[in-house]
Amino acid sequence: MASESVKVVVRCRPLNDREKALKCKVVVSVDSSLCQCFIEKPGAAEEPPKQFTFDGTYFVNHTTEDIYNETAYPLVEGVTEGYNGTIFAYGQTGSGKSFTMQGVQDPPSQKGIILRAFEHVFETIQCSENTKYLVRASYLEIYKEEIRDLLSKDSKQKLELKEHPERGVYVRDLTLQTVHSVGECEQIMDMGWRNLDAAGNEHLRAGKLNLVDLAGSERQSKTRATGDRLQEATKINLSLSALGNVISALVDGRSKHIPYRDSKLTRLLQDSLGGNTRTLMVACLSPADNNYEESISTLRYANRAK
Ligand code: ADP
Repeated sequence: MASESVKVVVRCRPLNDREKALKCKVVVSVDSSLCQCFIEKPGAAEEPPKQFTFDGTYFVNHTTEDIYNETAYPLVEGVTEGYNGTIFAYGQTGSGKSFTMQGVQDPPSQKGIILRAFEHVFETIQCSENTKYLVRASYLEIYKEEIRDLLSKDSKQKLELKEHPERGVYVRDLTLQTVHSVGECEQIMDMGWRNLDAAGNEHLRAGKLNLVDLAGSERQSKTRATGDRLQEATKINLSLSALGNVISALVDGRSKHIPYRDSKLTRLLQDSLGGNTRTLMVACLSPADNNYEESISTLRYANRAK
C-alpha cells in the first residue's frame, strides 16, 4: 500500500551546450518500456552499467506532457476527489527540476507540471455539475528550517508550525488565498516568486496538493566535504535528507516510526506523504560523464524512495 502511494520516476535531460563544448560523453540511458535506467562509470568500460528500475524512466524523446499524463495525472485527479498529494523534483542544480516543474511555454508539450496541475484542477471543476469546490492557494518558503509566507506583505516574518487535533500540522498565520482560475494561480506564483522562492504549496478542495521546489541536491555532498560549516549546512540540507528518510521508511512499509518530525518540510507534508495519499518524485539527471557522481547519488536517493 505504501509503495503504491509513492511513485518515483527518473528524467534525464539532453546534453547542454556547455557539456557539448566540453565533449562530454552521455553515460545515462533508459529503457522506458521496462522502466529501467542505466549509468556507465566513465573510464570503466569493462564494468557493466549500473541498472536501476523505477516507476517510469524518461529521456530526451519524452516531454513533460508524457510525464504528467503517465504519473502526475492520477495524483492530481485524486486531489480533486479529496486525497492529498505531493509532487516534487529532486536532483542537482541544472538537472532539469525547474524545467519539469515550472516548464517552458514553447513547445507546449514542455509546459511544466505546476501549470498542468492548475489547469487540470480547474477543468475538473468546470466539468463537474454536482460538486462545489473551494480552491485556496498558499505559497511558502522553507529555508534553513525557517518558514516564510511568500504571499504576505511582510514576507520576512518567520512563521511557526502548529499542530491541531483536527487540522493536523499547519503554518500559523499563513495566507490562504481563494482562487477561481488558472490565471489567479499564476498571479499568486508571480507574487510569491518575487519574494524569492524555494518551496511551493497548493491547497485544493478537501484534498491538498503540494508542489515542492527543492533545493539542488548537490549541496548535500558538497557540504559533507566542508566540515567546519557543517552546522549551518546541515540545516539547509536537513529537509532533503529528512524527506529521503521519510519516503524510504514509508516505502519500506515495515518501519513503525516514520521520522516526520525531523524537519519542517516533512512535518508540513506529514498529511500528504504516506497513508492515504500519493507522492510523486521526479528525479532529474544530467546525461554527462562529468556529472557521474551527482547522477549516481540522485539515482541512489531515488532508489531508496522506490
Ligand atoms: P534545475 O532547476 O534542476 O537547476 P533547470 O530546470 O533550470 O535545472 O535546467 C537547466 C537547463 O537545462 C535549463 O536551461 C533547461 O531549459 C534545460 N533543460 C532541463 N531539462 C531539459 C529537458 N528535458 N529538455 C531540454 N532542456 C532541458
